[in-house]
Amino acid sequence: MSCLFCGIIAGEIPATVVHETERTIAFRDLNPGAPTHVLVVPRDHFADAAELAEADPAYAGEVLAAAAAVARQEGLTGGYRLVTNTGDDAGQTVHHLHVHVLGGRALSWPPG
Ligand code: AMP
Ligand code: ZN
Repeated sequence: MSCLFCGIIAGEIPATVVHETERTIAFRDLNPGAPTHVLVVPRDHFADAAELAEADPAYAGEVLAAAAAVARQEGLTGGYRLVTNTGDDAGQTVHHLHVHVLGGRALSWPPG
């Protein structure tokens, strides 16, 4: 199986890593949609949040905790948004679970 984010985790594809834990890694989005746009991923391959939550709820919690740590580290004291697109209707393009951490500007709601 060829997976872009597994390639980044393996160090085969370059990325700007900003946060790491034993089971998670976070790197800057290549095409940022906000002043801060970081992707937090589990080091193991899960297609989406539902798959990880079903397989290992504690691991899913670690991904969320890492996202909060990234927001804190990035100084997003005014607020931020966590997004995990799931499936075609949501526009998921990389089928390795990733939580987008978006912030650094006022974010409109609802998203498109
Ligand atoms: P999604 O559409 O929710 O699946 O998000 C995938 C995200 O991955 C998009 O925001 C892309 O800009 C981002 N992306 C794609 N390739 C890379 C890469 N090589 N390094 C960092 N981010 C990437
Ligand atoms: Zn993967």
